Amino acid sequence: MADKQQLQVSGEKLSEWRDTAISAALSVNVSSSEVDWLLQEIAGLDSLALRIGSFKEKSQIQLKLPLEELSKLWQQRLNESLPVQYIAKTTTWRHFNIKVSPSVLIPRPETEFLIDLAASATADNSTMQQGNWADLGTGSGIIALGLAKAFSQAKIHAVDRSSEALSIARLNADNYNLGDRIKFYQGFWWEPLNFLKGEFSGMVSNPPYIPTNTLPELQPEVYKHEPHLALDGGRDGLECIRHLIEVSSNYLKPGGIWLVEMMAGQADKVTQMLHNNGSYSKIEIHHDLAGIERFALAYKSRE
Ligand code: GLN
Repeated sequence: MADKQQLQVSGEKLSEWRDTAISAALSVNVSSSEVDWLLQEIAGLDSLALRIGSFKEKSQIQLKLPLEELSKLWQQRLNESLPVQYIAKTTTWRHFNIKVSPSVLIPRPETEFLIDLAASATADNSTMQQGNWADLGTGSGIIALGLAKAFSQAKIHAVDRSSEALSIARLNADNYNLGDRIKFYQGFWWEPLNFLKGEFSGMVSNPPYIPTNTLPELQPEVYKHEPHLALDGGRDGLECIRHLIEVSSNYLKPGGIWLVEMMAGQADKVTQMLHNNGSYSKIEIHHDLAGIERFALAYKSRE
């Protein structure tokens, strides 16, 4: 732990640091806005103070990291593509401030829409908004948090294989006082929820869905730093989604929701697999804001 003195810096010194960081960023085509975002998180400055430079007048600014360490990490941002969210250890998703570490995928804006889809799919059936909901492969816990906020009567069960991810997810739930609404389990997809077979109103997941051999084509920030456990969807990218289609019907109630995120180009195969399985009806594909077929939604058949 750095002592207090190392964590204080004058506005003038921080302004010099910012100028150097911005020119270094621009020389390797990294957006200068990342510097200001980082300073908002690390130095608690607001964007206006940064833009108009009023922070320069301050004699003391409190940092969350010593400036030297911040400089080292900023070098890693520029030279090794370290995502800036892993430096700040936080990001925003829906209305949450979410803690992140390299053990969890950095929450993506498109994933936010899963919660709206779950809410609209159950809007005319309030009993489905109660009872048990699963977030499988919870990572930082965002889907579980989003579901807990959207469905105030539901019990949320969040599963991950990674115990490091689960400790981040628990921290995020506690930060929003949702620790008693969300239960966390370590294990493989549905396995830890065996005791609740047939009892789920819904299942929501952002599983790994990138084909193994295309992982190296991802942005270096993603490929080099984000957990492959959260990205690698096996040979065709669909191994986890295939498993979730096969197994989920044993866990969902009749009429229960099956909802996953996927990647561009997977919608037809996912629709086909859901259809061929025979346990699902009313299969829907939804687009993200970029117009990509990103989400598959289905209901467990009522028989
Ligand atoms: N959307 C993420 C990406 O593009 C991948 C997330 C996932 O595999 N679930 O990197």
